[in-house]
Amino acid sequence: ANMEKAAAPSSVPVGVDPNRASIARVYDAALGGKDNYEIDRQVLDAIKRAVPEVRDMAWANRNFLIRAVRFLSDHVGIKQFIDCGSGLPTAENTHQVAQRIDEETRVVYVDNDPVVLAHGNALLVDNDRTWIADADIYQPRQVFEHEFVREHIALDQPVALLHVSTMHHYLGDDYADVMRDYIDRLPSGSYVAFSHFYDPEDPALSPIARHMEQEMLGSPMGSGAFRTREQLLEMADGLEIVQPARGVEPDLVLCDEWWPNGPHLEPLNEAQRIIGCWVARKP
Ligand code: SAM
Repeated sequence: ANMEKAAAPSSVPVGVDPNRASIARVYDAALGGKDNYEIDRQVLDAIKRAVPEVRDMAWANRNFLIRAVRFLSDHVGIKQFIDCGSGLPTAENTHQVAQRIDEETRVVYVDNDPVVLAHGNALLVDNDRTWIADADIYQPRQVFEHEFVREHIALDQPVALLHVSTMHHYLGDDYADVMRDYIDRLPSGSYVAFSHFYDPEDPALSPIARHMEQEMLGSPMGSGAFRTREQLLEMADGLEIVQPARGVEPDLVLCDEWWPNGPHLEPLNEAQRIIGCWVARKP
């Protein structure tokens, strides 16, 4: 069964086929970007029928990524990042956030979508501390054996590994093994930042999650799995989760609740309550 699932559309590069949606382009459309095709917008419209405020979900995720990178760079002092499933360049990318804090920081992006790779290469021509590697993020060995990772990421110093909104596109039952393989390869003192579609097992929200899952599975984008708290925490096995805010126990939280930029003046909407995250340290 795993073999079959490992061949699910998400692990196969979609090429630049304008008749097939791509995860990166649908996500770009959800963020309000311009690097997407008609087919991607159609998929997004179908998802919006399940989750009308999906844009807030995408931004909750993206803003978590930005705050997590700032924390890892500024507060923890990490100088090297591997950003798995980096996506299309948008407002604030990992290298921009991290290199603003310390211009020496090295960032290796990893993606397999040709549109992402093309944009990444164009964006990075003038940057000699950032690279974009074409590899399958569900095969940690492939990522760590890529020449950019081997040449530019020193495995005797702490690494920040980002798996932000990536693992939910992996449908295999061995999702925790994939993360364990990554974690095993990281030196002690490294950090992982992680976010994932979240099924809060709440009768008011789980049906919304299931509906969105169906829309994605039935679409040319191929995949998206909402996993439970227990499953999301399984992927942090062997790590020490960082306190997500003052006075909050180390645990999985909603993306909007992780080290927020300011007070929430309004309650989170349904879309914002089905995307979870954690940041954790390898002892
Ligand atoms: N990490 C970014 C963020 O959170 O803002 C972008 C997340 S986007 C939802 C997921 C990204 O993972 C896409 O850019 C997609 O191309 C990439 N991706 C999906 N499956 C992949 C695979 N098997 N190998 C490499 N990248 C993959």
